[in-house]
Amino acid sequence: MKENIWRKDFPILDQEIYGKPLVYLDNAATSQMPVQVMERLAEHYKTEHANIHRGIHYLSEKSTEAVEQARKTIKGFVKASEAEEIIFTQGTTDSIHLVAAGIAEELLREAAGAMEDNAGLAGAVSRAGIVTTQMEHHSNYVPWQQVCRQTGAQFFVCPAPDGELDLDALEEILKNNRIRLVACAHVSNLTGTVNPLDQIIPLAHRYGAEVLVDGAQGILHQPVNVQELDCEYYCFSGHKMTGPTGIGVLYGKRACLEKLPPVRFGGGMVDIVTEQKTTWGPVPHRFEAGTPNIAGIIGLGAAVEYLLEHDIEAMHAWEDDLMAYALEKIGALPYVRILGHPKKRAGAIAFAVDGAHPYDIASMIDKAGVAVRSGNHCAQPMLQALGESAAVRVSPAFYNTKEEVDTLCEVLEKVITMLRRFQS
Ligand code: PLP
Repeated sequence: MKENIWRKDFPILDQEIYGKPLVYLDNAATSQMPVQVMERLAEHYKTEHANIHRGIHYLSEKSTEAVEQARKTIKGFVKASEAEEIIFTQGTTDSIHLVAAGIAEELLREAAGAMEDNAGLAGAVSRAGIVTTQMEHHSNYVPWQQVCRQTGAQFFVCPAPDGELDLDALEEILKNNRIRLVACAHVSNLTGTVNPLDQIIPLAHRYGAEVLVDGAQGILHQPVNVQELDCEYYCFSGHKMTGPTGIGVLYGKRACLEKLPPVRFGGGMVDIVTEQKTTWGPVPHRFEAGTPNIAGIIGLGAAVEYLLEHDIEAMHAWEDDLMAYALEKIGALPYVRILGHPKKRAGAIAFAVDGAHPYDIASMIDKAGVAVRSGNHCAQPMLQALGESAAVRVSPAFYNTKEEVDTLCEVLEKVITMLRRFQS
């Protein structure tokens, strides 16, 4: 088998747990960090740690420069047209919340305006709707459900039978309602479905809706070109793309960011503050109130540099090969049912086992050194649609190998046999 040229950069993988070599296949939860990112973080703390944008001393300027350089690097990575379209957040959940809360305010203002015009609140809001999908992570589902609850807007869920979005159903929703926004994952964190954004985004636009893409699972496993995609928003987390935790990005088209009301107020985001009124600073700073996660931003910039310098296309090709191999091998194990049969899959394979609980499987294979995830994967609507309440998820990344998939399958087979024996 071919040698994995990136693996040596990930020291955490080179260890034994419970006396067995670690096989880390839980990358959809959190990916690992290359040593280059750790070194950049250490350098930042050792030589430039200071608050940004406010000071005029050497360290503050150095830190500010590093943060703004990271913004430019990330802009290049997702192919945004301007660095100002990159907003730093705490992660995907936080990015989605920023847009959801802004849209909630806009919908409430619209409703209040309609009341003043005597059109009536019910009339105003009944025309507004938000669509999400059955395959979303709770982070891209619950915020929209709550926005609709708070504003009276209608909440629509596009079905995803067998892990594939029903685009005819989506079009019906778009055609028959005034949809403000479609919120949709790039890649499902459960079934690994790669959604056809090249169809979904133009479809939504045809009916006047904006599109927010949850890119938490897309950003590492798929090429991302936000200008080509033409989405209004694309959200992702540092820790799912070899960067640190606690840092994420909201990409937004400048025109959308200019009209989105900021919902977090404080230092760094204002222009003029008086007793009567506050005016906002420019995009992106108006969305970055308070001291940001400076080290996180710099670490994320270093992670993106790592991906760019180490040939992300080759990483994707490696992952595609590994996913096909894993899907075939896991699917061939006795009593295993792979969940969902999407046309295109990346990053994650979920399965159930007849006669064995996912929690027991994951706990037992952990003791053999293999890290996978079990549970509802924050995707209860998708699991329910698939007729399950829990699943095991295997999620490889570019530094995993076929040998590790072999180890996983050997261990899985033993554990499944044992658990079924106990249950019979
Ligand atoms: N969306 C998807 C598809 C995810 O997989 C996750 C995390 O697992 C999230 C959103 C939330 O990401 P975070 O916890 O980094 O905010």
